[in-house]
Amino acid sequence: MPDTVETFLNEWSAVKNKNRVAGIVGRRQTNKNKIVGKQFEFDKKITNENIIKSNNINIEKNIEKSNLNKKFRFDNFIQGNNNKYVFEAAKLVSSKPGIEYNPLYIYGSVGIGKTHILQAIGNNYLEIKPNAKVCYIDGSGFRDEYIHGLQIKKPDIFKRKYKSLDMFLLDDLQLLESAQETSKELFEIFQVLDNAGKQMVFVSDKPPKELRNIEARLKNRFEKSLILSIEPPQYETRLAIIERKINDLNTSIDEEIMKYMAENITTDVRKIEGAIRSYLSVRDIMKITPNIEQCEEMNIFKDYFTSKPKLQNATIREIKKRVSDYYEIEISLLDSKDRTKFISKARHIAMYLACEYSKKSVTEIGLDFNRDHASVIHARDKVKEELKANTHLSVEIDQIISSFNIGR
Ligand code: ADP
Ligand code: MG
Repeated sequence: MPDTVETFLNEWSAVKNKNRVAGIVGRRQTNKNKIVGKQFEFDKKITNENIIKSNNINIEKNIEKSNLNKKFRFDNFIQGNNNKYVFEAAKLVSSKPGIEYNPLYIYGSVGIGKTHILQAIGNNYLEIKPNAKVCYIDGSGFRDEYIHGLQIKKPDIFKRKYKSLDMFLLDDLQLLESAQETSKELFEIFQVLDNAGKQMVFVSDKPPKELRNIEARLKNRFEKSLILSIEPPQYETRLAIIERKINDLNTSIDEEIMKYMAENITTDVRKIEGAIRSYLSVRDIMKITPNIEQCEEMNIFKDYFTSKPKLQNATIREIKKRVSDYYEIEISLLDSKDRTKFISKARHIAMYLACEYSKKSVTEIGLDFNRDHASVIHARDKVKEELKANTHLSVEIDQIISSFNIGR
């Protein structure tokens, strides 16, 4: 259906509803008017309110039908370097659906805001076009609905519902892996919506090429979508999310604690909410304001902090070997005067690991690397600082540490 026709129909039905309400109340008004003039003024006010109320009820109903949670909006999503592009693309899709980025495929690891963005697309679109048919659902919900339709021998209800949508938001698509029949059905829906120029957004924990046991034609279509990956937020973004969440709870927490949380919750943002709740409950129940040492003593954050690979009592020789293997460089370069960027980075990481995981002092570590203690401290702090902003670096370091555990 051309967009103009559709817009006309949507507007027409809105106007029709409005007139119906106005008509009913209007008739009542005429009667009242006959009785007392003043009362008429009063009812007129109520009439306008009623019209607005009724429209709001329609919008509320539409949101309810869409399965969207109103709390996921663009204005409460914190932007950072790692999610800026996805955020902008999502905003564009929600204000001009079916035009440029259609279909859109977003993937990334757990707890980094995929569902938030997906639902914000729907919520924002419904604000612009309150009568639009939007549906948000995740892979397992979609599969269950399809199967239920078959069980009650009314598969057409399911087909009709999805094929008539203006916007289809499918979350956790990977849950349809191995659900061959459902994914065949999804392919049909995909084709109908695609031909009609309706916006589709798919979210998954993996890129299309890694989807297994899913209708081949569908996978092929996903591969041709606009595919965007979303990365875990960097330190600054994590800190901003923490500040925002605390602010939304109308309370405050010491900056030192907020920074401590941001440093230690590096992957799953959902854990941030748990950590904040845990801290606030200790504060309320114990009537104390725990500092970092007390948080550690009381294990307040133990279920929320990202666990680091364990490494104890590593020797400097071993650390150098693992780092040089990882970066594929000669081990002797770590002690050399070579200042090439790549070599310096590997050296700094080796010194950092030596400080964190060997039992040696900075002076002893310096001797091992042909340097003084000040260079070791500089290298250690530089890596620590960079870890706050660079999620790739923390992945590299975690991989180096994991290699110890494998090879020991
Ligand atoms: P995913 O779907 O990627 O697993 P969610 O979208 O469910 O993650 O996000 C988990 C929680 O973290 C949600 O409460 C969400 O609102 C919040 N969240 C994630 N990223 C952000 C962000 N950048 N700004 C604000 N809240 C965020
Ligand atoms: Mg999700």
